[in-house]
Amino acid sequence: MKVFKLMSEQNHEEVVFCHDNDAGLRAIIAIHDTTLGPSLGGTRMWPYKTEEEALEDVLRLARGMTYKAAAAGLNLGGGKAVIIGDPHKDKNEMLFRAFGRFVEGLAGRYITAEDVGTEVRDMEWVRMETQWVTGISEALGGSGDPSPVTARGVYHGMKAAAEAAFGAPSLRGKKVAIQGAGHVGYYLAEFLAKEKAKIFITDIKQERVDKAVNDFGATAVELNKIYSADCDVFAPCALGAIINDETIPQFKCKIIAGGANNQLADEKKHGKILKEKGIFYAPDYVINAGGLINVANEVEGYNREKAVKQAEGIYHIVKQIFELSQKENMPTNVASNRLAERRIEQVVKLKRMHVIRPPKQMRGQRYQW
Ligand code: NAD
Repeated sequence: MKVFKLMSEQNHEEVVFCHDNDAGLRAIIAIHDTTLGPSLGGTRMWPYKTEEEALEDVLRLARGMTYKAAAAGLNLGGGKAVIIGDPHKDKNEMLFRAFGRFVEGLAGRYITAEDVGTEVRDMEWVRMETQWVTGISEALGGSGDPSPVTARGVYHGMKAAAEAAFGAPSLRGKKVAIQGAGHVGYYLAEFLAKEKAKIFITDIKQERVDKAVNDFGATAVELNKIYSADCDVFAPCALGAIINDETIPQFKCKIIAGGANNQLADEKKHGKILKEKGIFYAPDYVINAGGLINVANEVEGYNREKAVKQAEGIYHIVKQIFELSQKENMPTNVASNRLAERRIEQVVKLKRMHVIRPPKQMRGQRYQW
């Protein structure tokens, strides 16, 4: 395994291999970039077939978090962890407590959270060993389910896309086709229903579709017809890689704005095609950053009102991305990367400036030099 070669390719700062025979722990923590602040990113538990596969995944995911936090305007860096194991069979208290001790050893350079294969209960075990964990239950002072905040961010990002595409942010009367009536999709439908948008929805679970139909007057759509639905906005809230060679020719929408991760099957190719076709694509990691914003707020002591306000700010970020995309004639996914990189570069320059701080004991007091 060529660890340093892989790290240098995308400029990762640190990789920690975590091992504990007694607890059966094999995990990797990757810290990509801490220019903006401590790295934050979830812990994924997955039965990786090889160690190489686990390493490649954690490096890719950690880098993605750097961009996501930077674009969201957070003072956080990018990190991620993977635990090699089957989340249905291999979970126990000692595994997560052992992992927690490795996180503690990083002294705040990496802050963890839930991700695919891990849940609130697991993070509560991690928390027995370290304070550097978010995504814990409301009962323990955490932020609880992030989905309502994620959906709120998606909704406001969609309004920014509407402004770019139709000249006004209103979604009243607009036809929105939602793929996935799960956590994010359902809450998104609620926001849209309040604004009197026309909702079309699909899900592999019929009861979820029925609930959206009953609660919001949505129209049910067959699974594969969602791509060709006659709509203004397509909102992917289920799967990744759903913007691909097969689906793009079917789209009738003017906007793609949804909560799902990794929507573009091929970032370079498909982002460009969407731009050429005149489809306003709100980059996934920007529009779904509400979940990250929510847990990031736990770091300083959770305040729901603040988290909600910050998630609503996704409107301005998406707006900026569309402006840059237009001005520089580049796909929106490239524009969002550019924006994130620019923010990191600017903070590097800013930190070169020498600032004299009063001694710790004098901070917050009136004093004269
Ligand atoms: P969820 O599991 O609650 O909902 C996903 C829904 O999609 C489920 O109802 C599932 O039945 C449905 N689905 C699966 N395959 C489908 C298919 N082929 N066609 C139609 N529907 C299908 O998950 P969620 O928390 O709502 O997250 C949705 C997406 O948003 C995921 O990609 C997730 O990674 C991403 N995301 C979620 C959050 C969050 O706060 N929950 C934050 C950021 C990103």
